[in-house]
Amino acid sequence: MQSLTVKSRYSTDLVDITREVEGVVKRSRVERGICYIFVPHTTAGVVLNENADPSVRKDIINALERLVPWEGPYTHGEGNAAAHIKAALVGSSQNVPIVKGRLALGTWQGIFLCDFDGPRDRQVMVQPIEAEATDD
Ligand code: ZN
Repeated sequence: MQSLTVKSRYSTDLVDITREVEGVVKRSRVERGICYIFVPHTTAGVVLNENADPSVRKDIINALERLVPWEGPYTHGEGNAAAHIKAALVGSSQNVPIVKGRLALGTWQGIFLCDFDGPRDRQVMVQPIEAEATDD
């Protein structure tokens, strides 16, 4: 398992980590399988979405903000309940197929760390898993 350190820049930030994850896959020499990506935090998560037009990233952030405003009413004493809820909505892990030693992402797809309580350093765990050899 490789651990990447990712710096977020804003209180809510989607950071494109596609190239870093690709690098882990390349170094692993896994040719065919699955790349498992896991974020071990309660106020951050990971999504797959468009990395061509940056306005999509902004729209996702703004829509989550409207859905889960920072000001409650919430009961969590730390004051960051909205960040926990957004992290729960986007989820903590993703799987991407590995084909011919590369991530088989769609043309417009990228992998984003989502920080909902930044800016800070976040960890992303990446594990390329080799598929069992079969006859096909
Ligand atoms: Zn909290």
